[in-house]
Amino acid sequence: TTLLEFKQVSKQYGADTRALSDVNFTVRQGEFVSIIGPSGAGKSTLLRCINRMIDASSGEIMFDGSDIMSLKKRELKQLRSQIGMVFQHYNLVNRLTVIENVLHGRLGYKSVLEGAFGFYSKEEKRQAYSILKILGLEEQVYKRCDQLSGGQKQRVGIARALVQAPKMLLCDEPIASLDPNASKTIMNHLRNICTTMGITVIVNLHQVDIALKYSDRILGVKKGTIIYDGSPAGIKREQ
Ligand code: ADP
Ligand code: ADP
Repeated sequence: TTLLEFKQVSKQYGADTRALSDVNFTVRQGEFVSIIGPSGAGKSTLLRCINRMIDASSGEIMFDGSDIMSLKKRELKQLRSQIGMVFQHYNLVNRLTVIENVLHGRLGYKSVLEGAFGFYSKEEKRQAYSILKILGLEEQVYKRCDQLSGGQKQRVGIARALVQAPKMLLCDEPIASLDPNASKTIMNHLRNICTTMGITVIVNLHQVDIALKYSDRILGVKKGTIIYDGSPAGIKREQ
């Protein structure tokens, strides 16, 4: 079944930057899709239109049966709990611990400031621990995030996204700041999350080889348009 659909989506920044031009594609539930293309192609804009971090200028974006362009503020919150986001620079609160960062993904930063750790229920903590364990961070639970390596920080970022039990994960250049070893660990985790939890994963990557290795499907983007939509094998044949 279709989880996400872009119909004729365009995004204009100001008067003269057209970042996306009539973009059409669909993503099925449980797919692992990589978006590849050169810097400035529109990958990040495309990803951020999905959870309305950016508003598209025209077209239609359907997620799980609803038109996300027409959502009101309260409905947006609901949408974003369905769509976890993972960032290149992790976007963690460095002076907080790993578990606090993960729980803050669910309840918002304000709740961390007000209630600190005691605020969270046993069940919420139990869930956070179990996700951290899956990601191999059981030793890091009470460490401050500024004590972690880059690869560990990104795993915390993934845990924070997962604790909301999303249908989809959007990952914007998740390995661009990591060494090859840590990159491999992160890609393996993302692939596992997709395969074993059934969560749809969309990843922006500039490394074509990694995209080909891990994805079910590739979207090639250039100058704001989709120039390839198909299997990794299809790209290999073209090369
Ligand atoms: P990519 O992720 O593929 O590097 P982006 O989506 O970041 O591409 O950018 C696509 C185009 O839109 C680029 O020309 C970029 O300079 C432009 N752009 C991105 N964000 C903004 C913004 N906030 N304001 C103006 N132009 C932007
Ligand atoms: P990862 O598996 O996350 O990629 P690395 O291979 O980068 O981890 O790091 C291996 C170990 O070194 C980690 O267990 C981590 O505790 C430690 N380490 C790496 N970088 C730092 C750092 N900047 N500060 C503290 N410890 C670090």
